[in-house]
Amino acid sequence: MAYTYDDQNIFAKILRGEIPNDTVLETEHSLAFRDINAQAPTHVLVIPKGPYATFDHFAAEASDAEIVDFNRAIGEVCRMTGVAADRGDGYRLIANAGADGVQEVPHLHVHVIGGHMLGRMLQPAR
Ligand code: 5GP
Repeated sequence: MAYTYDDQNIFAKILRGEIPNDTVLETEHSLAFRDINAQAPTHVLVIPKGPYATFDHFAAEASDAEIVDFNRAIGEVCRMTGVAADRGDGYRLIANAGADGVQEVPHLHVHVIGGHMLGRMLQPAR
């Protein structure tokens, strides 16, 4: 089955400059900005600029340059926000996908969450 992408999603609109965002980092292929509904003192979303709905879509179809840029951007955000494990107290990365993952916005985003103790991993909802 081919991957699809809906370019009317809110992060596509952010990338087109149609709605504002609080940018933390912009690179050639990625953008990082603060989550509008932060769940912790640090809550940044890192997205690829390309049209990928989920992590598996990105991993299957993005170029090597996009994949390297995205991973390095996530690491840089960890360092910039002070949560990096080598000098801060750590963080959690979350990439929700699809219905079971309860993905709200169908454009790949990695949540970088930290700044306080996060507790253990989530429990299943059912
Ligand atoms: P998901 O459940 O898809 O993994 O998470 C989507 C995230 O996007 C949520 O944490 C939500 O607060 C955030 N979000 C939704 N709309 C906006 C927006 O317009 N701007 C920003 N900065 N974050 C948004």
